[in-house]
Amino acid sequence: MTGTAPDPGNVAAPSQVDGGDSHTTPGMVCAHHHLYSALARGMPAPPRTPTGFLEILELIWWRLDRALDLDIIEWSAKLGALEALESGTTAIIDHHESPNAIEGSLDVIARACAEVGVRVDCAYGVTDRHGSAGARAGLVENDRFLRAGGRGHVGVHAAFTCSDDTLEAAAGLAADHSTGVHIHVSEGTADLEAGYRLEQLARDDWLVVHAVHLDRDLPGTIVHNPRSNMNNRVGYARPAGRRNLVALGTDGIGAAMLDEFRVAYVRHREDDVTATPETAWSWLEAGWRLFPEALDDTVVWSYDRMDPWSLAFTTGVRALEVTVDGETVLRDGRPTRVDATEIRAKAAEAAARLFTKLEQMP
Ligand SMILES: [Zn+2]
Repeated sequence: MTGTAPDPGNVAAPSQVDGGDSHTTPGMVCAHHHLYSALARGMPAPPRTPTGFLEILELIWWRLDRALDLDIIEWSAKLGALEALESGTTAIIDHHESPNAIEGSLDVIARACAEVGVRVDCAYGVTDRHGSAGARAGLVENDRFLRAGGRGHVGVHAAFTCSDDTLEAAAGLAADHSTGVHIHVSEGTADLEAGYRLEQLARDDWLVVHAVHLDRDLPGTIVHNPRSNMNNRVGYARPAGRRNLVALGTDGIGAAMLDEFRVAYVRHREDDVTATPETAWSWLEAGWRLFPEALDDTVVWSYDRMDPWSLAFTTGVRALEVTVDGETVLRDGRPTRVDATEIRAKAAEAAARLFTKLEQMP
């Protein structure tokens, strides 16, 4: 059995989410997450203040990923999965990197999500940042996970940190497993050549994440992460102008998809005052094309007008009850399978260990 990510073209999303009961929707989908960053909040300040996107990567995220070990990944993933569930998100498409703990890392994430009761699609972000041996180890981890029947994509960090050989190997591996590549594309100006370099490789089942500075059309689903893009000051992606299916991700800033929808709408509106919430809502609904299993899940919300125009201007809507695959995994806002207090305590211990490692890093 190989990875079973479905062809996004074959699944019809419902035209409306409120199938009769206005409190209830299917499970929300986060189409791009980094569960490994759940413990990053409150981390030690970087050695100096980053002045652009590339320095944000170098001074913050590429230091953090080097400090990860399998225990930290486990508690980070459990906390991220718990917070997703509490936000009514039942399916996460994750993109992972831990250069000093590659082998088995995707299993750790998949197990952590299964324990909490959240669906996950895993990918290891291959890169040549740590030499060609590091890239090979990343490819092997994707292959191992998919070969064992895991649900996933083949991850690639981004074209600008990969050789052409690595990009071709990742595309080939994904095709062998009948799945797509999950890759950051032209998120910042450091990756302007991504369109040219990926043009002959990309396929309809690829997840093209960000596409802020993408200079041409590529096949695949574009995953828009408006809050992260603003936080990194990379510019506005203008996803409404793309011909692709567009889905919404958080890029690791939680998994509260109603929040991300609200940000996506208001960022769209800032760019175009004629924009309506229906467009950002269609991006949220596109998540069900990528993760149709979430349509079988139900979320009962604290609010009875679960429609784009109401939700665009209503904050603080909470998930009260969530069922995944017929099982109630959140009741009265609390998880049924795991102890939220224990996960938060263990995650805090892991975060303290992570922060010490970061402080000791040259
Ligand atoms: Zn990302």
